[in-house]
Amino acid sequence: MTSTLARPTTVGGSSRTTAKTMYAAVVHDFDGPLRLEEVAKPVAGAGEIVVRVEASGLCHTDIHAAHGDWPVKPTPPFTPGHEGVGIVEEIGLGVTEVAAGDRVAIPWLGYACGTCEYCVSGWETLCLEQKNMGYSLDGSFAEYVKAYGRYVVKVPDGVDPIDAAPLTCAGVTTYKAVKVAGTRSSDLVAVFGVGGLGHLAIQYAAIAGGRVIAVDVVDEKLELARDLGAEFTVNAAEQDPVEFIHALGGADQAIALAVSPESFEQAYRSLRRKGTLVFVALPAENHIELPIFETVLNGITVVGSIVGTRVDLREVFELHAAGKTRVIRETRSLSDVNEAMADVEAGRIPARIVFTPEPTSA
Ligand SMILES: [Zn+2]
Ligand SMILES: [Zn+2]
Repeated sequence: MTSTLARPTTVGGSSRTTAKTMYAAVVHDFDGPLRLEEVAKPVAGAGEIVVRVEASGLCHTDIHAAHGDWPVKPTPPFTPGHEGVGIVEEIGLGVTEVAAGDRVAIPWLGYACGTCEYCVSGWETLCLEQKNMGYSLDGSFAEYVKAYGRYVVKVPDGVDPIDAAPLTCAGVTTYKAVKVAGTRSSDLVAVFGVGGLGHLAIQYAAIAGGRVIAVDVVDEKLELARDLGAEFTVNAAEQDPVEFIHALGGADQAIALAVSPESFEQAYRSLRRKGTLVFVALPAENHIELPIFETVLNGITVVGSIVGTRVDLREVFELHAAGKTRVIRETRSLSDVNEAMADVEAGRIPARIVFTPEPTSA
């Protein structure tokens, strides 16, 4: 892939807080690497805030965004990043939700209308007017990020910002998926894919009372899964996970987190009667085949789950502050963004990479 990007020499200096520019990792075209470059520092308009980024997780969505993999593509140039955590530095007119100095998380749902039927019924994540961080709005792969004050979530004291970053998408997404799955105590929950999302899904399913089966193709990830509370593990490269799960009675719920349509089909076939399959991952290949006959006769539910609301994210932080969850992550400098993306794509990362903007030079 690409070599480490040098930090622009024109950025830095002694007066960073009053600087009009910052550096950001910018996508210019879907075939090339991100470029770390000097761009204008954002200014908060009405309802907006500017946050000094402390940490920003790398989600598979950022990689899909950078490659233009999905039917609805972002428009270059843009800055990815939707697991941003940092300190509010500037407050725009009318912002009452947060104050300067607060630590906040800036999730995928960067903006919603607040008045449509989805927004007022607790489904703001389905708002048709929504804007998304790192996709339609510039994200947190930068020194500073602009956000709507109403759509950020405060990070409680006692939650490490490096942990808070992965919780902001991987955490809330899997927390919501377990809610949508309807997991109750004693349910058998199959988690397909133990990575940035999966390692958290296992913990939330266990917190909900489920007995967790983790499915992956990498032994070290399965070991991690057991550490985090999975009762059973199966290596799908060595053993048919469908057979394995049916030998245990079949899954009450299966959560599809691996970006492979084949894994979605295995998740479907691992269900017991009345089971629920939750679609979460978004493979570039957009289709799977499901049988109608078995779905009807077995009373199967298939449901999609997209991120979570601000309330879900608050609950995620509350659980973490109470010591109920562990975040497996490693930190890298934002200047390593291209290598980090290549490592995630090659499956070389156990869970999550969190970028930290490099310290400013004195
Ligand atoms: Zn994400
Ligand atoms: Zn709305």
